[in-house]
Amino acid sequence: MSQEFDLVVIGGGPGGYVAAIRAAQLGLKTACVEKWTNDKGAPVLGGTCLNVGCIPSKALLDSTHKFHDAKHEFESHGINTGEVSIDVAAMLARKNTIVDNLTMGVAGLFKANGVTLIHGTGQLQKDRGVKVTAANGSESHLKAGNVILAAGSVPVTIPSAPLIEDIIIDNVGALSIKQVPKRLGIIGAGVIGLEMGTIWQRLGSEVVVLEAMDNFLSTIDKDLSKEAAKCLKKQGMNIRLGALVTSTEVANNEVKVAVKKADGDSETLTFDKLIVAVGRKPYTEGLLSADSGVAVDGRGFVHVSTRCKTDAPGVYAIGDIVRGPMLAHKASEEGMMVADIIAGHKTLMNYDCIPWVIYTHPELAWVGKTEQELKAEGVAIKVGKFPFTASGRAMAANDTQGFVKLIADAETDRILGCHIIGGNASELIAQAVIAMEFGSSAEDLALTVFAHPSMGEAIHEAALAVDGHAIHMANRKKRK
Ligand code: FAD
Ligand code: AMP
Repeated sequence: MSQEFDLVVIGGGPGGYVAAIRAAQLGLKTACVEKWTNDKGAPVLGGTCLNVGCIPSKALLDSTHKFHDAKHEFESHGINTGEVSIDVAAMLARKNTIVDNLTMGVAGLFKANGVTLIHGTGQLQKDRGVKVTAANGSESHLKAGNVILAAGSVPVTIPSAPLIEDIIIDNVGALSIKQVPKRLGIIGAGVIGLEMGTIWQRLGSEVVVLEAMDNFLSTIDKDLSKEAAKCLKKQGMNIRLGALVTSTEVANNEVKVAVKKADGDSETLTFDKLIVAVGRKPYTEGLLSADSGVAVDGRGFVHVSTRCKTDAPGVYAIGDIVRGPMLAHKASEEGMMVADIIAGHKTLMNYDCIPWVIYTHPELAWVGKTEQELKAEGVAIKVGKFPFTASGRAMAANDTQGFVKLIADAETDRILGCHIIGGNASELIAQAVIAMEFGSSAEDLALTVFAHPSMGEAIHEAALAVDGHAIHMANRKKRK
C-alpha cells in the first residue's frame, strides 16, 4: 500500500523545503523526500545552501573579514590588539554550529507546519508515483496529487583536475580546510572561486585564480567587473585570465597544475591545495524513471514552463535543476510560486528582478540589465553613478571602495538596472530591487528620503546623478 499525499516534494534544499512549508500552510497534505544524511545516519534538510553553500561560505567570509579587520584596520581606529591569530579549528566549529542550528531549524519548521519528512532517495514514476529508496536499500511508494522536483545541483568536474581527497577539492572540501594552505590554486574565477579565494587569502594563503576566459566576470556590468578586478588585485589575489588548466598531478602532498595560456605557451604551477570551482550542473541522477514523462534538455536541466510546469501533468520543477540563475532565493521564490499554483492561488514570479551578489570585499551586487546588454538591445539609457569615496557613512566606516551605478530608460526614466560594488552591497541592492519591482523611475528614488548618514544615500545620489543632479559630486548639468 502506498502512502498518499496532495504534494510530494523531492529535495529539501531552499527550493524544496520552502515549497513544502508553503504548501502545508495552504492546507495541502505534504511530504518532502530528502536523501542527505549526517554522520549519525539522520536526515538533514537545507540542501546545498545550508550545508555546503551559501551559509557556511558566508560564516567563513564573516570570520575572516573580522580577522582581516583586526589585523589591518583596527589600528586606524586607534584600537591596539597586539598579535592577532586565527584558530582555524574554532572558526570551522563555529561555521558547523551555524549549519546545524539552521538545518535543525528547518526540521523544526517541518514539524510545526505538519510536513512529513521522508528520509531516502526519491524517484518520480509514471502518473506522479514516487519510489523512495532508503539508505538500507528498502523501497516504499508514495502517491501524489502533485510532485515538485527540487533536486538541486552538484559541482561540475573536469577531467584535467579530478578530485583527490584533501588536495584537489570542490566547494565541500574548500569549506573545511583544516590548515591555512601556503599556496592555494583555484580553477574558475566565478562567484564560488572568488569567495573561496577571499576566505583563505585573508588567512594568509597566496591565492592564484586560474580562469580559462580572457574576460573577468564576463556576464556582469563592465564597470563593476573592472572595479572588482582592481580591488581584488590590490588585496593580493592573483587572477590569471586566459589560463586553461589542462592537467594536474598530485605527489608529495602538493599538486602540479599544467596551464595553457592565451598566447599558446604552457606553464606549470605548484599548489598545496587546489579548489575546483568551474560551475555547477543540475542533478537528475536517478530522479526520473524512464516513463515519468518529464523531459530534460540538452544541458541536463529539467524542461519547464515560465511557471515551472514540466511536461508531465501535475509535476513541477524548481531551483537549480531548472533554467535561470542558480541562486537560493530564486529557488525559494519558485518554491512558493509553485505551492501557490498547486493550492489554486493566482501568483507570479518576476524573473527580471532577481538580485545577484558576490560576497568578496567590497561586495558586488546587481539587479536588472547591464549597460552593455541595454546598449546591445538598442535601448536609449541614462546612467547615474555615485562613488562611496563621497559618502560620509562610507568614510566613517573606512569603507570607501566602489560605487553605485543606476541605469534608467532615457525616455521613461524607469529604472532598468542597478550595479553596486561596495561594503554591504548585498543589503543595499534590496532597495533597488524593491524600486524596480514597483516599476519605479529614477526620479521616484531621487524624491525618496534616505537616512543620513547611510550607505544607502549612495543609491539616492546615483538616482539624482541620472539627471546630473547629485549633490555631493561635481554636477554635469545645470538644474532646470
Ligand atoms: P539544493 O540546495 O542543491 O538542494 C537539493 C536537495 O535535494 C539536496 O538536499 C539533495 O540531497 C536533495 N536531493 C537530490 N536528489 C534527490 C533525490 N532523488 N531524492 C531525495 N533528495 C534528493 N546562492 C545564493 O543565492 N547565495 C549565495 O551566497 C550562495 N552561495 C553559494 C556558495 C557555494 C559554495 C555554493 C556551492 C552555492 C552557493 N549558492 C548561493 C547557490 C545555492 O546554494 C543554490 O542555488 C541553492 O542551494 C539551490 O537550491 P535547490 O533547492 O534548488 O537545490
Ligand atoms: P561559475 O560557473 O560562475 O562558477 O564560473 C566557473 C568558471 O570556471 C568559468 O568562468 C569558466 O570559464 C572557468 N573554467 C572552466 N573550466 C576551466 C579550466 N579547465 N581552466 C580554467 N578555468 C576554467
